[in-house]
Amino acid sequence: MLEGLEEVAESLHSKNIPFILRTGDSVTCITSFIDEVKAGALVFDFSPLKNARATIKKIAGLITIAVTVVDTHNIIPVWIISDKQEFAAHTLRRKVHKQLDTFLVTPPPLQNHPYTATQVASMSFSQAKEHIQNFPAAGIAVSYKPGEQAASKQLQSFLEHNLNNYALLRNDIAKDHQSGLSPYLHFGQIASLRVVIETIAYVNEAPLLLQSFKLAQSSEMPSVIDGMNTLLEEIIVRKELADNFCFYSESYTSLKGAAAWAQASLASHADDPREFLYTQTEWEECKTHDVVWNAAQAELNKTGKMHGYLRMYWAKKILEWSTSPEEAIKIAIYLNDTYSIDGGDPNGYAGILWSIAGLHDRPWFDRPVYGKIRYMNEAGLRRKYDVNGYIERVNKL
Ligand code: FAD
Repeated sequence: MLEGLEEVAESLHSKNIPFILRTGDSVTCITSFIDEVKAGALVFDFSPLKNARATIKKIAGLITIAVTVVDTHNIIPVWIISDKQEFAAHTLRRKVHKQLDTFLVTPPPLQNHPYTATQVASMSFSQAKEHIQNFPAAGIAVSYKPGEQAASKQLQSFLEHNLNNYALLRNDIAKDHQSGLSPYLHFGQIASLRVVIETIAYVNEAPLLLQSFKLAQSSEMPSVIDGMNTLLEEIIVRKELADNFCFYSESYTSLKGAAAWAQASLASHADDPREFLYTQTEWEECKTHDVVWNAAQAELNKTGKMHGYLRMYWAKKILEWSTSPEEAIKIAIYLNDTYSIDGGDPNGYAGILWSIAGLHDRPWFDRPVYGKIRYMNEAGLRRKYDVNGYIERVNKL
């Protein structure tokens, strides 16, 4: 984050816009800074998560200048796309299709600022880097080069090498065919709007987009178009559905955030015997009986990112081998937010509740422990993908 900000500071400097870095409690820091520079307005980026929203609310209550929140985290602002918690991807998808063309607009380039601001004190980046050494290590292995330029390179490389077969191979755990953009999206080093605009421009400028999400499987379409359609489904519909959930649900980190059918079904299996149970240390040190689960956690520990398809299996097995769904959600959030470079993100909370508690999903066949939550097992993974190839890839990391 800090290295990414250093790059932001440099590009702002080249436009005659100051970048001020301070540390401390955000409410105290921001309110005193407003007084110090006699600010005329305050603008925040949006996050649907509780802490960020509570901080903004608190600051807004303490100051008299105008406060604006801009949703650059989504392409269609979360409060515009829907005024309620959406039931599933298909209910949001319809709304995306209706509103996307209004919001799919290339932002104007940043202008040189005509006035030079008065100098105010700012911490240097080397002081800031030293300062963060005082925080307990988050435990995340960072295998990605940070910053806006690196994010842009990642996107270009994805478009040139992986978009072509993205629809076909993104779930293939033995191949590394995902975009690798989530670390950059999570830290605001690239916007999903930018990704979508550049992807459409790269593929074809023809406006196929609005009707074409559903065409992703059509064999008549060139695969680069399938790739684009699949990416747009993920980065618009799925990503914005996660923000919709966190924005409107009071309980995005607990079982209470699940649908009534899922809560009832899991409750009816509360007393089912669990074949295996693990401690937090056993989970994080990859010491389960399951070689695939261990490899998935090892990938996360070593690189800061787990393959997206395995994330579902990983979370479902935590449900299967924990004392309760509540405990499983707690441990999955702990592992994800501690070891994943894109953790602490609305996508993570929605993904964990999807896997463990049927969020945005439908009831499946009733089975022990899972109830009606969709099930996954190793045999199913092995039928679809080269699991040993995946384990080998992780061992080599
Ligand atoms: P790609 O497949 O290339 O997707 C491109 C982008 O589309 C992603 O960066 C993301 O913004 C969006 N996207 C893709 N899949 C999903 C999805 N299922 N839900 C919402 N948006 C999606 N994503 C995070 O960003 N942070 C997390 O902490 C996180 N935790 C997850 C935990 C579990 C248990 C599950 C099942 C999913 C989680 N996801 C999380 C969602 C998804 O797995 C990741 O976004 C994806 O694997 C990131 O890698 P990528 O950018 O290479 O993905």
